[in-house]
Amino acid sequence: MSDRVHRTAAVLAVGDEIVRGEKLDTNSSWISARLTDRGIEVVEHATLADDQDAIARAIGDLCGRVDLVIITGGLGPTPDDLTRAAIAQAVNRQLIEDKDALDTIRTWFERSGHPMPELNRVQALKPEGAAHLDNPLGTAPGLHLPGDDRRSDVFCLPGPPREMKPMFASCVAPALNPPPDHSITTRLIHTVGLGESSVAERLGALMDRDRNPVVGTTASGGIVTCRLRQTGENALATLDDLEREVRHRLGLYVFGSGEQTIQSTVLDLLRERRMTLAVVESCTGGGLGATLTTVPGSSDVFLGGWITYSDRMKRRQVRVPTAVIESDGEVSRACAEAMAVGGLAESGASACVAITGIAGPGGGTDDKPVGTVWICVAIAGEEARAKLDARRFCFPSDRAGVRRVSVIWALAMLRLSLLPDSGSSGLALACEQESARSVAPAPPPA
Ligand code: AMP
Ligand code: MG
Repeated sequence: MSDRVHRTAAVLAVGDEIVRGEKLDTNSSWISARLTDRGIEVVEHATLADDQDAIARAIGDLCGRVDLVIITGGLGPTPDDLTRAAIAQAVNRQLIEDKDALDTIRTWFERSGHPMPELNRVQALKPEGAAHLDNPLGTAPGLHLPGDDRRSDVFCLPGPPREMKPMFASCVAPALNPPPDHSITTRLIHTVGLGESSVAERLGALMDRDRNPVVGTTASGGIVTCRLRQTGENALATLDDLEREVRHRLGLYVFGSGEQTIQSTVLDLLRERRMTLAVVESCTGGGLGATLTTVPGSSDVFLGGWITYSDRMKRRQVRVPTAVIESDGEVSRACAEAMAVGGLAESGASACVAITGIAGPGGGTDDKPVGTVWICVAIAGEEARAKLDARRFCFPSDRAGVRRVSVIWALAMLRLSLLPDSGSSGLALACEQESARSVAPAPPPA
């Protein structure tokens, strides 16, 4: 083992199936997260086909630039598994057979009651100077080629994640040598209701790339996440200050941090207020109910709902008046309100969310283009009156995007309705085009 300090690392994924897009490279992100946790900066990911020359070139190049290279894939027994040979080629060493490794592979087969196929013999090969790493769950041993002054430490692990992960834990993690004074701390703050550029505007100089700690943003399906990242000492103290500042600048748009999701936050808010929830969905076809029920324990808050995809189901299941559908249409404020009020009455829940819209690709018109979605939140009030918050959105997306984002914004609206200080403050939501808050008498229970 070299005593090289691992300040920087690169992760290399090898496999035809990965470059062709048939398999997702989950190994690199898993490994990178573990290295980052230990304070090692992952500066590069590379993905290569099973091509010996290309792999050798990449290893040679990375070895001169980073302290640690971790490779996965290409250690199988077949002619397309070329990583062993590529490492040897990159560092100009012979491949030699390791007797102990050969015995281990033979024993592995004997235990499963089969003789070792001759093909598997190649798995006992290693570049001179490298050590085999034990693989308790498969026939492919890993490899470790210690680095020197000019060349990084190289670890190579098998591609299958169920073999790679335990080997990383038992063979790579104990050999990691991060700089002693270095740590990388990240914290995630999630927002909903603002577009990514509006979030960036509010964060201003906190996003300057040369700051430490620094904030970056990522947007996905209506949710913008701020990633706070601090490298070096005193990370926790400084990140606390930064988190306070980020929360201050983004105000009510912040809904959670870390592992929290918009659905878990909304369910927590309802639970704290001892409220229950029902949903009435049209264009999302049950997506809102499905999202809410991803949270374990949602059943103490979420009662259930209706997928009223046709006008007939809207009329029959949640008693949307025929007149509303005839005069305003199914994608309208009046229909969304009637769905929410009807769902409230039929379920006996204390809150109900209704979604009705045009997910496309067909069905749009000039005044209701594809992407037009009305969402209404009804909160049961006194004397059978419900507080209603209905908003019209126009989501510039395809069918899947409109449906996904509708679910997120329905949850965002419900959250706003439940917050004490947002009330009718009229917080605008990105993509919102029109909104109305009113009070409606709930129809009498059937
Ligand atoms: P190998 O024989 O070592 O090339 O690994 C082959 C198996 O591992 C296949 O099932 C691959 O789909 C899986 N695999 C290889 N590389 C990766 C990767 N980077 N992420 C996830 N799975 C992978
Ligand atoms: Mg492979």
